[in-house]
Amino acid sequence: MIVNEAWSLDEGANRVSDLFEKSFGYSPHAIHSAPGRVNVIGEHTDYNGGYALPMALPHRTFAAVGKRDDRVVRLISAQETGIREVNLDEVGTYDSDNPVEGWPAYVVGVAWALEQQGKPKMPGMDVAIDSCVPFGAGLSSSAALECAVAVAWDAFMAEEDGWYALIASDKGRSELVEACISAENDIAGAPTGGMDQAASLRCEEGSVILLDSKDSSIRHIPFDLEAVGLELLVIDTRAPHQLADGQYAERRATCEASAKKLGVKYLADLEPDADLSELSENERKRTRHVITEIARTLKFAELLEGGELTGERLAELGQLMTESHESLRVDYEVTVPELDVAVSTALENGAIGARMTGGGFGGSAIALVSVDKVDQVIDAVKARFEEHGFNEPHFLHAKPSAPAN
Ligand code: ADP
Ligand code: MG
Repeated sequence: MIVNEAWSLDEGANRVSDLFEKSFGYSPHAIHSAPGRVNVIGEHTDYNGGYALPMALPHRTFAAVGKRDDRVVRLISAQETGIREVNLDEVGTYDSDNPVEGWPAYVVGVAWALEQQGKPKMPGMDVAIDSCVPFGAGLSSSAALECAVAVAWDAFMAEEDGWYALIASDKGRSELVEACISAENDIAGAPTGGMDQAASLRCEEGSVILLDSKDSSIRHIPFDLEAVGLELLVIDTRAPHQLADGQYAERRATCEASAKKLGVKYLADLEPDADLSELSENERKRTRHVITEIARTLKFAELLEGGELTGERLAELGQLMTESHESLRVDYEVTVPELDVAVSTALENGAIGARMTGGGFGGSAIALVSVDKVDQVIDAVKARFEEHGFNEPHFLHAKPSAPAN
C-alpha cells in the first residue's frame, strides 16, 4: 500500500460490526465514527493561545458499541491485541495509583471526563474499534478514537431523562471536545493542546475551521480544492519518532516561560513587533515562530475568504505554507530529515506550497498540488526516500470531510 485510501462509511461500519459480534457474541446497538485531522497551517499555536486552521480527514475511526447495565467497559481494537476490561468506578488519572494502562485510557477517559463535567453516570459499554487513520502519523488517531467514543457516550446520555444529544449543537460538541482533551491529558497522560479534538468534532465537510484557541471559537471557511483542480496531499513519512512527547513538553514549557518573562498570559498576546531582547536565544526563536505562525495563519484565512484560489492568491497561500515549514525547521526545530525531504521534494516537483503538519519529530507533511501533478509528487517523494534509506512513505488524499457522528 502506498496510497492509504479512506474507507467508505459502509466499509468501516461493516468492519466494526463484524469485530463486535465476533468478540462479544451479539449485534452492536450503534455505530459511530470520527475523523482524523490535518492541520493546514498554524502549528504549535494552540497551547499558546493562537490560531490554527485544521480540517477533518476522510479517514475515520469507527466504534461499534453495545450498552451494558453495569459499569464495565469491554474493549477490543483491530489495531491492538485481545479484549480489555475496565470498570468505570476504577478509573484513575495517569499519575494516580490506578491509572488505566494503554489504549483503553482514551476510551474510558472520555466517560470519566464527562462525569467530571457533571454529566450523568455513564453506563458500561462493549466497544469494538477499527480505523484507517494511521497511528502516530500526526493525523490524530488519538483524537479520532476519543471523539468516536465521545459520540457514543453522548448517545447513551441522551437516553437519560432530562438530557439531550450534545452533538446536535456546536456548543454541545464543544463540551465533548473538552471531555476528550481531558481524557487525553488526565487519563492517558498525553499532553495535547485541543486543536485535534475540535477538528474531529466541530469541522464541516468542504471547510476548514479557523480555531481561536483563546476562547475555542471557530469560523468555518470553505476549502473546495477540487473545484479549482487542486489537492492537499498528505505525505505520511513513517519516520520513527520516540522523542515526540518529551520534546513537545519541552517546547510548551519554553513558551510558557517566555510568556511569563514578557508579562503576557499567552505568546499570542504579544504584538507582532514585540521586544524579545529579554529572552534567551532559544526562547526568542520559539517565540518568533509562534508570533509569525499566528500571523501566517490569519493571513491564510483572509486569503481563503477573499476570493478564488487561483493566480497570485494561490501562490501566496502556497508561500505561507512553505514559510511555516521553514519557521518550524529553523526557529521551532521540530522537523526531522524525512519531513524536510518530503517538503523540498514536493516543491521541486511542482507543489504550490508544502509544510510539515502536526507536532513534528516525524509524522506527516502536506503539499498543495494541482491534481495533474499529484502522481509526479508521489513518485518523486518515494524515490527520494529510497535514496536516503528512509522508511517507505505513505500518501493520503485529504479532502475536508464530515465531523464525528
Ligand atoms: P496520533 O498522532 O496518531 O494521534 P498519538 O500518539 O497521539 O498519535 O496517539 C496514538 C495512540 O492512540 C495509540 O498508541 C493508541 O494508544 C491510541 N489509538 C489510536 N487509534 C487507536 C485504535 N484504532 N485502536 C486502539 N488504540 C488507538
Ligand atoms: Mg494524538
